[in-house]
Order: sequence, then C-alpha cells, then structure tokens
Amino acid sequence: MSNRIPRFTHDGVKGADISAHPFATEDGLGLNLTRFHRADCDDVVLLVHGLTLASDMFIMPEHRNLVSYLLDEGFTDVWAVDFRMSNRFPYDMETHRFTLDDCALYDHPAALAELRRHIGDRRVHVIAHCLGSVSFMMSLYGGALDGVTSVIANSVALVPRVPLWSKYKLGYGPALAEYLLGFSFLDPRFGDAPVLTRGWLLSRFLSVFHRECDVRACHLLSFMWGSGRPALYDHHNLDDATHERIADLCGGVGVHYYRHVHKMVEAGRAVKYDPKDGRFTALPDDYLANAADIRTPVLMLGGDRNRVFADSNVVCHRRLEEAAPGLHEFAALPGYGHMDPFLGRDAHADVFPKMVDFIKRKAC
Ligand SMILES: [Zn+2]
Repeated sequence: MSNRIPRFTHDGVKGADISAHPFATEDGLGLNLTRFHRADCDDVVLLVHGLTLASDMFIMPEHRNLVSYLLDEGFTDVWAVDFRMSNRFPYDMETHRFTLDDCALYDHPAALAELRRHIGDRRVHVIAHCLGSVSFMMSLYGGALDGVTSVIANSVALVPRVPLWSKYKLGYGPALAEYLLGFSFLDPRFGDAPVLTRGWLLSRFLSVFHRECDVRACHLLSFMWGSGRPALYDHHNLDDATHERIADLCGGVGVHYYRHVHKMVEAGRAVKYDPKDGRFTALPDDYLANAADIRTPVLMLGGDRNRVFADSNVVCHRRLEEAAPGLHEFAALPGYGHMDPFLGRDAHADVFPKMVDFIKRKAC
C-alpha cells in the first residue's frame, strides 16, 4: 500500500469536529467553508488561501499545521474557505475571465455571510495568503464587507510589487500563453503530460533552466510565480513530502489573473481591473482611496527571501500607516519566502506564534 498523502485529506487535524458548509456566490459559483470545531469561543479565525492553493495549505498532515496550532492555542473554532481560486474546484482551469475584483465582490462577502450564519456576532480574525490576501483586503477596503476584528496578510496585501523578471512575465505571459502557445492555464503537472505534447515540451524546456531539484512541478511553479530557483519557497524550509507533492497543493492557474496583478504592479497599488465594467461599480477604482476610513488592524507579514511579491508588505505597511497611523503592524519573517510561512516544516515555531500573538492582542 502506498504511504502517499492523499489529496484533500483532513488527517492533519485531530480532535475536532470537521464539517463542510457549501455556499453560493451572486454570480453563480458554488464555494465552500470547512469548519474545524472543538468548542465555541469568542474569537473565530477564518483562513483564506492563495491562488492555485486551497484550504489544504492549512491542514497538511506532514507538519504541525496552522489549523491544529490555532486549535491548541485556544482558538477552538477555525474556518477555512475555498473560494474561486481554490484548486479544489475546476474554476481556475476552465475558460474564464475572472479577476481579483470578482473575488472581492462575490466570494469573500458571501463567505463572511455564511460564516456569520453559524457564529453570530462573535469576533472574526482573518489570516490570508497571496492573492487571497490581496482580494480579501480589496473586499475590506472596497467596502464590500466589514465586521472583521483583525487581518493577517502574508506576503502581499494592497501594494503588489514583484521582481523585474516577474514584471515581464506578468506583462507578456498571458498573451504569449493564450495566443502563441495555446495555454489558457498553466498546470504544474505538465511534466506528466504525454510525450511531445505542448505541456510536456514546456515542462522539459523549463527544467533545463532549473537544476536546483528534480521535481518538475517545482520548476513549473517557479515559472508560474516569481523569480528564483525555486521561487515560491526555500527548499530547506520544506519537508521532503511537501516538496514531492507540491503539485497536489498548488494546482493549475488561468493566466488571466496575471493581467490584473500586472495592472496593480504598474499602478503601484490595488486597482480595479476595468473601471468601465458595470458589474463592479460598488467597488472603488483605487482600493487605497479610502484607507483612512478602515479601522481594522492589519498585520502584514513579509519573508525576507520573498521572490514572488518581494517587499510588497513593507511598502504596504508604510502606505497604510500614512493613512491610519498606529493601527497596523509589519513583521519580518527571516529566512522565509512567499509560501513557506504556511507550508514550511518549522512554520509552527517561526511564524504561527507571531500570528497568534497578534490575534490575542486584538481579541478584546
Ligand atoms: Zn524543488
């Protein structure tokens, strides 16, 4: 029998009642909240994954994961959302034209509404990663939701900044992928595609430039995200099992999201993708425009080896501090990159305590 870790497993969380809470968005997608419940408590924590990841990033059995850590620290009612960027759903790899505005307008407010149906008016603290963090912050700062007691944003929030190579990729990649190469999405599993198909060829081509390890999905992910070998994490921060199953944790991504990220990078802040699109009139064109009015404290985390969103959160913290002095915090994560603050083998020792410390200070 294989000892491979099964996909979408809940085995990483012990001693909690685990339940699924499906909900729908106004634009007609089915999404899901998963509840990890030991007992009711005053401070509920909601976890928001990044693009191409899923709630699985918080419940990995091969290390001491964030959900277990929070439950043991007294936060005994933890929820994790799977929104349209989740690899538990087919949406990322279907033909679509979703942007982060869709997530901000439709997904996060609907998730909060479903959560409130179960927990009433208890305090809600959000921990979010990557484009889950950007889009959640867009919801909050765009006025699409409120009533959140605190937010922890890893890697990036409302000021996406990327290395120069990533800027080129974001700028030219989507058109190149869609019109020249014929990919509407990029899949870390292209290495397993039939020999000589386009996916197989792309994977073999990329691996020529990635000699840092022998996991082809790791090479593909470095191509999809950031600038580095590898780009998303430092290898020595990951358990071997995590590295080997990285394609289970990070799925395929529709390239259109890159266009919105590129627009934000060019603008130097989170902006609406298409101000003329009538569906999004409820959202601001500039998500920092009303930053002074938002009174939810935000802890921005930034690994000093972040090769995906670089110093985004250092700069975002500065901007938010200018708008609302004394409200927000920044914490550096020495030795960490973009994704290993959650996926890392020692994240429970190096990263999670900073999160819990912040939430405990805001839980009153
Ligand atoms: Zn690797």
